[in-house]
Amino acid sequence: MTAIPIELEAPDIEPHRHSSTGVDWVHTFDSGRPGPHAMIAALTHGNEICGAIVLDRLLRDGLRPERGKLTLAFNNVAAFHRFDTRNPYASRFVDEDFNRVWTRETLDGPRRSTELDRARELRRFVEAADFLLDIHSMLEPSPAVMISGPLEKGIRFAFDVGVPEHVVSDVGHANGTRMRDYGGFGDPASDKNALLVECGQHWERNAERVAWQVAWRFLKCAGVVSGERAAREIEQPVAPQKLVRVTEAVIASTPGFRFARSFTGMEVVPRRGDVIAWDGEAPVRAPYDNCVLVMPVPNNVKTGLTAVRLGRIEPR
Ligand SMILES: [Zn+2]
Repeated sequence: MTAIPIELEAPDIEPHRHSSTGVDWVHTFDSGRPGPHAMIAALTHGNEICGAIVLDRLLRDGLRPERGKLTLAFNNVAAFHRFDTRNPYASRFVDEDFNRVWTRETLDGPRRSTELDRARELRRFVEAADFLLDIHSMLEPSPAVMISGPLEKGIRFAFDVGVPEHVVSDVGHANGTRMRDYGGFGDPASDKNALLVECGQHWERNAERVAWQVAWRFLKCAGVVSGERAAREIEQPVAPQKLVRVTEAVIASTPGFRFARSFTGMEVVPRRGDVIAWDGEAPVRAPYDNCVLVMPVPNNVKTGLTAVRLGRIEPR
């Protein structure tokens, strides 16, 4: 794997440990005025530090909601505390992926792990939130991507937020349910809404800027800060957004899986039948024209795991 420079510095979040919520690293502020409950989460994966930088800044700046309530949560702090710039890949989680345990059955079940214990602490906040933004970043260099989930309400929310350029609608992962799909967020009949943003490569400077922009636009759309307050932070987007709907995952079925050329994510393969990759001797071909490669993992594809997801650009 190519070494990726670490341009961001993991913040000292120790000042944010104690909280009146009774749960460490989770802060809720009540404006005292009616309104929605918005929640921003960081460190769902312990080595994705751009979101922690944003929450640290918001907390140090003393941000308070003007309406409703605001919760700011550092999720997998146990994994984050293992973050080490000499081995930054190691601290994604401690026992299991925090972002695959979000079903009532799993949370109510008997199993225990570092992440499940933490998810059980976070659960009441996630259930109380009307709007959730979960801030992530990616292992491989790639343009930022908003993951809207499968429902129209999530797609609409992503376009209301207005950045980043790429909105990806997907159904999540076969190996567990994400926080953004939990409970009312995954229910088309509920008004609750959630987004997950991938701000770019984990440790690139730009990921912090993307996270800050998305966070302020989210706070404004959720209605907990005024447009005037948010306008002091928000930059104008440079590109119109486009919607990519994931149609399928390409699973590496041999150790010889390799991409036909180096892809960095969100590239458009123009023609149906074009070779995207080789799985051993077998070509993997684009199933339709203008096929978008969503978050390819070229450097560490393991047999049986997803190498890339394919998506169609849909007009909005
Ligand atoms: Zn992540």
